[in-house]
Amino acid sequence: MNKIFKIYLFSVGGLFLFFNLFSQDIPEGGVSKKGCFMHEMTQINKHRFVPTNSIYYRNYEAFNEDEYYIIPCVVHVIHDGGDENISDQKIKSQIDILNEDYGHYGVHNLDARGEDAKIRFCLASRDPDGVASTGINRIQSSFTDLDSEDEMATKNLSYWDPHKYLNLWIVKSIDNNPQLLGYSYRPTLSGGPDFNGDGIVLTYKYVGKTATGYNNLGRTATHESGHYFDLMHVWGGDDFAEGEGDCNDDDQIYDTPNCSTTFHSHPNNSCPHPRQCNNVRLIEDFMDYSYDACMKLFTPGQNERMRLIIQNYRSELVSYNNMIITGCEKIYDSLNSNSRVDIRTSPTQNKVIFKTHFSKGTSDLIFNLYDITGALLKKEIITGIGKQTIPYDLIELRPGIYIITGTFAGESFTHKLLMY
Ligand SMILES: [Zn+2]
Repeated sequence: MNKIFKIYLFSVGGLFLFFNLFSQDIPEGGVSKKGCFMHEMTQINKHRFVPTNSIYYRNYEAFNEDEYYIIPCVVHVIHDGGDENISDQKIKSQIDILNEDYGHYGVHNLDARGEDAKIRFCLASRDPDGVASTGINRIQSSFTDLDSEDEMATKNLSYWDPHKYLNLWIVKSIDNNPQLLGYSYRPTLSGGPDFNGDGIVLTYKYVGKTATGYNNLGRTATHESGHYFDLMHVWGGDDFAEGEGDCNDDDQIYDTPNCSTTFHSHPNNSCPHPRQCNNVRLIEDFMDYSYDACMKLFTPGQNERMRLIIQNYRSELVSYNNMIITGCEKIYDSLNSNSRVDIRTSPTQNKVIFKTHFSKGTSDLIFNLYDITGALLKKEIITGIGKQTIPYDLIELRPGIYIITGTFAGESFTHKLLMY
């Protein structure tokens, strides 16, 4: 819009036009909006989906408030030798962003209306054959330009069992359309992991902490993973029907205000909040089309929906057995406090007593004993420990203060011993 026209609007339009002018999408390097292709891809591919039961709230009483769900991820970089062959570092920064956004922490998530979804992402460290892996596969192919009518030509180049891994495919483009940033499918429509195309497609420019343009904070992956956990766009209408949601459509989440169709709230004009369907639009929601700097949260209702969908469609993915298969068990154990070591001394018997708790099997108890000067006196590994009490003889120790440090089932501990 040229300057003369802007001045004209100011002079004749007053505040109302001023607001509307700055609420519009602002073109930016060919990408004028956040373009998620979920709805369209669902229409295109519906004949290929596995039939499923789309009842959301069954087994609601099984909801577990406490457990952190860990999502093992594998990233397939489909490239043709160009810039789309992004670095490992960028991919790792994307996993960090997902964890910040789902954990509702970090400088970009300061908004009290959001909360921790207790969902975290782990780059797999073991492949489906049990071999050590970075969780990143690089495949050279011209199918890095993904064709929406033939997406499996790209996805079939590399995917791991979607029951066990979240597959993320990084591509150069979708339909050679720079407006399209990524897509994923809702499991209640697609069948979830029973469909080999289950996962998330991202165009490379919008991946990680150094992503470009106004979709620059890696929130495209956050948004698409919301669909992977069955969230709709905040305006609703994301089913097999044509058309986008108006005020009569809803996203079926109790605490996201009803709103109408797409809106691209922009940080350059302070992230405006239009009033729609008698509500102020929650443009901070990751499932809206706001530019990345305006986004801050999933609501408690969205978190409940995602966790319920995980329990019903992705339970194998988050099972402890799968944590071991994919190499994500340490992250699981560290967040879920399934392991604990309580230590006490029995000075009269010159013993230290470990009381261990590990709800997921057995682990090694590893510890070092130091004197007060920091000199190492003992180094010990006791293998195959579960939930038990272990007295350990320290009969040779002289009276004094000692330090014991160690690890058990991913938890580390330090304890001061006083021997008489
Ligand atoms: Zn979307």
